[in-house]
Amino acid sequence: MSAEEFRKHGRQVVDWIADYLATLESRPVRSPVRPGEVRDALPAHPPEHGEPFENVLADLDRVLLPGITHWQHPSFFAYFPANASGPAILGDLLSSGLGAQGMVWATSPACTELESLVVDWLAELLGLPERFRTDSVGGGVIQDTASSASLVALLAALRHAGGDPARRCTVYVSAETHSSLEKAARIAGLGTHQVRAVGVDSRTLAMDPVELADLMAADVEAGAVPAMVCATIGTTSTTAIDPVARIGEVCRAYGVWLHVDAAYAGVSAICPELRWINDGVAEYADSYVTNPHKWLLTNFDCSVLWLADRTPLIEALSILPEYLRNAASASGEVIDYRDWQIPLGRRFRALKLWSVIRWYGAEGLREHIRKDVALAGEFAGLAAADRRFEVRADHPFGLVCFRPVWPDLSTEDANTATLALLERLNASGALYLSHTKVGENVLLRMAIGAPGTERRHVHDAWEAIRAEVDVATTHPR
Ligand code: PLP
Repeated sequence: MSAEEFRKHGRQVVDWIADYLATLESRPVRSPVRPGEVRDALPAHPPEHGEPFENVLADLDRVLLPGITHWQHPSFFAYFPANASGPAILGDLLSSGLGAQGMVWATSPACTELESLVVDWLAELLGLPERFRTDSVGGGVIQDTASSASLVALLAALRHAGGDPARRCTVYVSAETHSSLEKAARIAGLGTHQVRAVGVDSRTLAMDPVELADLMAADVEAGAVPAMVCATIGTTSTTAIDPVARIGEVCRAYGVWLHVDAAYAGVSAICPELRWINDGVAEYADSYVTNPHKWLLTNFDCSVLWLADRTPLIEALSILPEYLRNAASASGEVIDYRDWQIPLGRRFRALKLWSVIRWYGAEGLREHIRKDVALAGEFAGLAAADRRFEVRADHPFGLVCFRPVWPDLSTEDANTATLALLERLNASGALYLSHTKVGENVLLRMAIGAPGTERRHVHDAWEAIRAEVDVATTHPR
């Protein structure tokens, strides 16, 4: 593709994206396609001869778009948000345009230095401790996902624990911890019996620090080596918050690594009124992850991991083959981010986060979070005021968990009715919600956080949900 051709098609692509984002609202939120439908509509074999780029765009419109669930749709309320924004898209495009590999400082100094600056900026914006700063003994790094971040935190924790990690080390999570922690333990070679699920408070669903202490004491007594505890700030199911300070005290008593998974909720600490969510982090956390690619207007992938001390991580992951030796690395004056992650190669992700922070400023980012928190509060108020619904009390972020109350149904039938209602709502294309289970009950999850979501979208969603319950209760199926 010549420079002139690139210019022409680049403009077409940017126009395509701008039109897509501008007309998003008119599309069904959840893709209605059947399994295999997208693939069947495309040629089974690759072309022998090159094609005009317009053909790609035509197939994007004709075949791929119907197979897309529109995560940026203002009525997308499922899972957690996966924010995209103009500055992030453009930052990512610039990163693609540069095509640089920032695996070590020497392979593109700007990649490393911008990344270390921007993660320090973000630490400052979130009020995270000074020791997480890259210019101290700790530091931050952009990973692809929180799953990878937790995996490397675990590898650092295992290193920190010494001993024979594969056989004797134990890791502590709760039943509400994200599955990526169990996956990380498996990848690290720990058996299922080495991952301990600590009980949670039945109301708040937060990890019980007393049970954690008891479990750890028993494990030590039995000759195990506790290596890491993962506390979550904003669990995936309901955004419960583990008591980090009390968990941290237990960790400190045993010299155990405390990892904090704040993948979704952590970015909300950009608002001073939400900083309390990080109580205990400054005193106790050895590592902390949050995902700007969820709720901070930065396109996937962008997950930031900070460490209070980077040494165990680098000791765990650094291997220096001859072909990577260079004077800058040998000088010890530079960061080589390849030693902070699983892969060697790395994208220049800092560009998009930098673009986002510069475009919105702290003020604009706070406004985005505050809008969603306020809309979640408003939605919870609407549902709580209707006797046919039950709402979970704690919803400090953008997620509200609630359920229709089916007075005449058993728990099992009520769950079936709630899931059927969810499917009807989602199949309508007008909105998209997801679900979870707390105790015996299926709950609906209304996660507000798409950049374009306004009050009217939330009210429309509430009306649609209410109307479905009306129909279901007057004409039970
Ligand atoms: N941790 C928590 C608390 C999450 O909610 C999620 C995803 O929703 C993850 C980890 C995994 O995030 P990622 O997709 O970045 O690996």
